[in-house]
Formats: sequence, structure tokens, C-alpha cells
Amino acid sequence: MTDCIFCKIVEGKIPSKKVYEDDDMLAFHDINPLAPVHFMIIPKEHVDSLAGCGDEHARVLGRILAMAGRLAASQGLTDGFRTIINTGRVGRQDVYHLHVHIIGGPNPLGRMVTPS
Ligand code: 5GP
Ligand code: ZN
Repeated sequence: MTDCIFCKIVEGKIPSKKVYEDDDMLAFHDINPLAPVHFMIIPKEHVDSLAGCGDEHARVLGRILAMAGRLAASQGLTDGFRTIINTGRVGRQDVYHLHVHIIGGPNPLGRMVTPS
């Protein structure tokens, strides 16, 4: 998609600090980390959000989740981490190219969601 920041990262038009890449997915560090380790795993093919997914996305979504633990461990997160997928307006999604945040560090994180 032409106007998508993450598609541009996939294409190498915007630089990123890569964690992992294969034919289906790319993992790269968040530009504004919320914890000592904060990276994202994205499908290379553009999908707006989890709300727009169907059966045709099951394979890549499954692969992304199946890789998450290994990639987290590769970044030092051997004692747990948080996985976040923000979806749509209510989910406070900022970038509309589906991404799975992997967040962690040496200490336990804050609560799952700040009550609104
Ligand atoms: P969202 O709020 O959509 O779940 O998360 C979007 C994330 O993308 C944010 O954590 C933000 O810091 C990150 N981000 C936005 N633009 C860029 C960029 O150009 N490069 C990288 N590496 N991360 C970005
Ligand atoms: Zn995109």
C-alpha cells in the first residue's frame, strides 16, 4: 500500500532496526519503545488491522504468533513478555498495518490496561 509507513519499512524505503525477516513477516524495533525491549512483528503483505482479517490470513497470523516466543527470547526476554495487538479506534491503533507488539524487560510490566 503506497501510503503505509510499515509497507515502506517492508520495502526498505524507511529504515528500521530489524529483529527478524522471512518471506511472510518482518520484525523490527519500535521507534518509540515503551519498555527496555519493544519490537513489532508484521505481515509483509498489507492488512489494515485484525478487524479486517479472514481465513486467508490465518497462516501468516499463526506463523507470527508461533515465532513470537523465539524472537522475544532472541532479544533477551526469557522470563516472559507482553503481546499487544491494538485494533481500530477503540483499541487506539495508530498505524493501520497489522502489527503485534512484543514488549518486556527485566522487570514485570504494569497492569494489562489502564482503566478508562
Ligand atoms: P499502534 O499504536 O498502532 O499499535 O502502534 C504503532 C507503533 O508504531 C507505535 O508504537 C510507534 O512508536 C511505532 N512507529 C510509528 N512509526 C514508526 C516508524 O517509522 N518506525 C518504527 N520502527 N516504529 C514506528
Ligand atoms: Zn502496509
